[in-house]
Amino acid sequence: MAGEPQDDCLFCKIVAGRIPATIVRETETTVAFRDINPQAPTHVLVIPKAHHRDAAALAAADPALAADVLRETQAVAEAEGLESYRTIFNTGAGAGQTVWHTHAHVLGGRGLQWPPG
Ligand code: 5GP
Ligand code: ZN
Repeated sequence: MAGEPQDDCLFCKIVAGRIPATIVRETETTVAFRDINPQAPTHVLVIPKAHHRDAAALAAADPALAADVLRETQAVAEAEGLESYRTIFNTGAGAGQTVWHTHAHVLGGRGLQWPPG
């Protein structure tokens, strides 16, 4: 069921504390932790604690929770001292999504090119 923890989901395991992560912020509904393979000096992933497969599914199922995730991307950027940063939701394998639990990438601390390619 939408929102329920999935036994085979890496990020549900991080939420449950079953695998370690470097957590930078936590709220009642979200967790933010450092990406294991950072692409910038700051590379933090913000996830809802509830399992939704991608950003589109999250927005459709629980818009308030989607707003929590977005708000938290700003809180992470502020905590990391970033004036400029990029928030990315890869949605679908063709866009590079590899973990099927909604996550916002927050990237900053270096120059970021646009368009990203
Ligand atoms: P995607 O490619 O799905 O948009 O992003 C998945 C992200 O999760 C990648 O940037 C990848 O480095 C990160 N990642 C994969 N496995 C782990 C893990 O076990 N721990 C952490 N902290 N990040 C992970
Ligand atoms: Zn999950």
